Amino acid sequence: ARSTGGLNNINNDNSAIDSKDLRAKLVLLGDSGVGKSCIVLRFVRGQFDPTSKVTVGASFLSQTLALEDSTIVKFEIWDTAGQERYAALAPLYYRGAAAAVVVYDITSPESFSKAQYWVKELQKHGSPDIIMVLVGNKADLHENRHVSSEEAQEYAEKNNMVFIETSAKTADNINQVFEEIAKRLPRPTVS
Ligand code: GDP
Repeated sequence: ARSTGGLNNINNDNSAIDSKDLRAKLVLLGDSGVGKSCIVLRFVRGQFDPTSKVTVGASFLSQTLALEDSTIVKFEIWDTAGQERYAALAPLYYRGAAAAVVVYDITSPESFSKAQYWVKELQKHGSPDIIMVLVGNKADLHENRHVSSEEAQEYAEKNNMVFIETSAKTADNINQVFEEIAKRLPRPTVS
């Protein structure tokens, strides 16, 4: 079996990597408490379990996604491991990232401001062609919404980002985040 060396590598389905298959490092960014770990857990394990924290530290989780054209995308998902508390993340975190998912909580305007800060960080330190997704999480708490979809959509468009509202709790749109990224990954040129 192929191992990625991740501490929490849950994915056991490591069939041989085909030439058509893609690998992509994906980094998560956003204020603490917006649901980054829950989004990853929902995607990787299909569960909502706030008590089981995936704090991967210097490591990452890996998960494969099969696309309609039978391409397999292998994601290496990096969580901040709480380091979003600091003003800056280590350059190692951004290095080689094909995609970044910037998460805020739709009930928290502060987390939306913080998301904008992380987008600026990405524009400074990320690769120029990084795929950026703005995720408004906790969409199930719509009665408590304090960030409008319109405002977020407009911000995303201005910054060349895909915008999606999700709920890790109900699983709404979680897979879509990863599918949107997969669609946009550069395909190897066929020789
Ligand atoms: P992180 O610090 O960004 O990794 O946030 P966590 O994934 O640890 O989630 C923080 C808290 O938000 C937890 O108590 C979760 O139960 C809660 N949470 C996460 N996602 C959702 C969601 O989609 N809906 C609701 N209602 N709560 C959520």
